[in-house]
Amino acid sequence: MILPIVAYGDSVLRKKAEEITKDYPNLNELIDNMYDTMYGAYGVGLAAPQIGLPIRLFLVDTEPFSEDESHTEEEKQQLKAFKQTFINAKILEEEGDEWAFNEGCLSIPDVREDVFRQPKIKIQYQDENFDTHVKEFDGLIARVIQHEYDHIEGVLFTDKLSSFKKRLIKGKLANISKGKIKIDYKMKFPLMKKKR
Ligand SMILES: [Zn+2]
Repeated sequence: MILPIVAYGDSVLRKKAEEITKDYPNLNELIDNMYDTMYGAYGVGLAAPQIGLPIRLFLVDTEPFSEDESHTEEEKQQLKAFKQTFINAKILEEEGDEWAFNEGCLSIPDVREDVFRQPKIKIQYQDENFDTHVKEFDGLIARVIQHEYDHIEGVLFTDKLSSFKKRLIKGKLANISKGKIKIDYKMKFPLMKKKR
């Protein structure tokens, strides 16, 4: 089932999300619904706060990036195969020289900006069976994980822009909160005026 994606300006996107246990109600169904929602919006990642739940859960599937001709054959194969559910994730290390990548976010449609992040991460997380893993990732896979991880920390990619860039997109962000935007997936806007 496709769930509405919460738009920029909703306070749930600003909360530090809470850990969950195996007993979290209807967790498997929730995860399935989040995958449906992410694929329905052509996203490569989705975090629970984006569907209104302040819990430490996010999904990543980098398959759409595998089509990009700028990658090597090996990178394409990796991107194509990478699909993972992250529960109670904790980034343990980030390293390397920051690199820029043009990021977007399903909660902030039509805004894309270069964001600088370190290229390598080490992350601890639980999978859908609550088995714990510690893994290292780099490149675009690390990038998507870092973006989604920020969501469960209450951080958005627009927070990482220069104050000049922030000023430039301020009006656009305000319009997104009010629902004054064209989108082709289901969203929930915090400041949309209700029709009488
Ligand atoms: Zn996002």
